[in-house]
Amino acid sequence: MTHPSAGTATTNLGPTANGGSDHTPPGQIAATLTTLAARLREDQKTNIGFPGSFDFDITPLLEFFNFLINNIGDPYLGSAYPANTMPMEREVVTTIANLLGAPVDDRWGYVTTGGTEGNEFGLHLARERFPDAMTYFSRAAHYSVAKSVARLRMPAIEIKCDRDGVLSYTDLRRLLLAHRDRPAIVLATAGTTMTEAVDDVHQIRTILHDVPIRRFHIHTDAALSGLPLAFVPRSERAGYRLDEGADSISVSGHKFIGCPFPSGVVVTRRSLRDRIGTAVDYIGSADTTVTGSRSGHAALVLWYALNTLGMSGLRRRADEARQVATYAHAQLQAINWPALRHPHAFTVVFDQPAPAVVKKWRLGTGEGRSHLVAMPGVRTDQIDALISDLVASRNKAQTSTPVPDRAPVPPRAPYPRDGSEL
Ligand SMILES: *Cc1c(COP(=O)(O)O)cnc(C)c1O
Repeated sequence: MTHPSAGTATTNLGPTANGGSDHTPPGQIAATLTTLAARLREDQKTNIGFPGSFDFDITPLLEFFNFLINNIGDPYLGSAYPANTMPMEREVVTTIANLLGAPVDDRWGYVTTGGTEGNEFGLHLARERFPDAMTYFSRAAHYSVAKSVARLRMPAIEIKCDRDGVLSYTDLRRLLLAHRDRPAIVLATAGTTMTEAVDDVHQIRTILHDVPIRRFHIHTDAALSGLPLAFVPRSERAGYRLDEGADSISVSGHKFIGCPFPSGVVVTRRSLRDRIGTAVDYIGSADTTVTGSRSGHAALVLWYALNTLGMSGLRRRADEARQVATYAHAQLQAINWPALRHPHAFTVVFDQPAPAVVKKWRLGTGEGRSHLVAMPGVRTDQIDALISDLVASRNKAQTSTPVPDRAPVPPRAPYPRDGSEL
C-alpha cells in the first residue's frame, strides 16, 4: 500500500513549480484531488488506532462551506461580525454542559479548535485564578499538556501513574503535602491517550481537602471519554464532571461526535470565566477565547450532529462502540494475546505486534504496547481481520529468523519533579 505524501509536488505551487505558468491545469488539480480521495478512502479501511469517528455524514451542510462563517469573540456576547453561528454555538455549549454536569445557573464555554485548545484554556484560567499555584499532571496525561504548561510558564510537577494509566493518588498526596503552602492546579484525564484510564476528580478533591489545600483548580482533559462516559451511571465510573469536582473540562469534537475536522468544546463556570478577557470594541465582543477568529463551521457541524443524533443517538453510538471494544478484547484473549480494557473504554491495549501490523492498522504504540480504539464506525469484521494478521505475524515470527523490531519509541523526557520554574 502506498501513501503519496501530502507534500508531493503535483501542482504548480510545489517546489518544482513552472515559473512561467501562474496556475495549475485543471486536469492536474482534478488528478491530485482524486488521488487524495482514494488515499482517504483507503485509510478508513484500516484506521482503527486513532480515535476519530468516520460514520458521520455532513452532506446536508455542504452548501455552508461556500460561506465564510466566523464566530469571532465570546459566543454569549455576540459579535460585530454578523455572519456567525453563535446561536448554534450556544446550543452546542448548553448540550455539552448538560452532559458534563455544569451548574445550570453558572456555566460558560465555547467551541474550540480541539481538546488541546480547551486544555490550554483551562490551564490559563486556572493560572489567572491562582498565579502562584503549582500545577500537577500525571505521566499519562496527553503529550500536549507538558507543552501548554511550559508555554504558560506554569511551575509543574509530573505525578506517577500505575501501569494501567491511572494517576497515583499516593504520589499526588505526597507532592501536594510537600507544596501545601501553594495553591494547586490539578490536570486530571478522563480517557488517557494510551489506555483510556480515568482519573477520579472526586478522589483528587478529597485529597486536596485532607492536605489541606483550599485554593485549587481541577481541569479535566476529557477529550476522548468525556461525552461517552456521561451515559454511564455515576456509581459505575470515576468522577470527572463539573458536578463531581472539576472546575473546567475540555472535550474533542472530532473524536466521539465525529466532526470531520478538528474541533472541540470547553466548559467552565461563568463566574470563573468572568476573570478573563477584556472588552474589544473592534469585534463588538470580549476576547475571552484562546484564538481570535473562530470556526463558525465547527459550531454548525457540532450543532447538526448533536441535534440529529439526540441523546438517544449518542448513547447508542457509545453502546455500540463499547460492544465492538468488548468483542476485540475477547478475541485477543481467545488467541492468548495479552490485552487490557478499562471498564466502559473504547480502547483495547495489547502487547505490541510486528511492525507491519502496527503500521497497517495505525495502532497507537509506545513502550512495548499498542492499542486500537473502537470508535463509532469501527466494525467487528475489521477486528477479525486484525486478529488474523496478529495470528499470521506470530506464526511467521515463530518459523523465521526474528526481524528487528522498529526502533523503540524514546521515553518522554522526564518532567522536572521539583516544580522548578521552566
Ligand atoms: C485527543 C486528545 C487530546 C488532544 O485533543 P485534540 O482534540 O486532538 O486537540 C488531549 N487529551 C486527550 C486525552 C486526548 O485523547
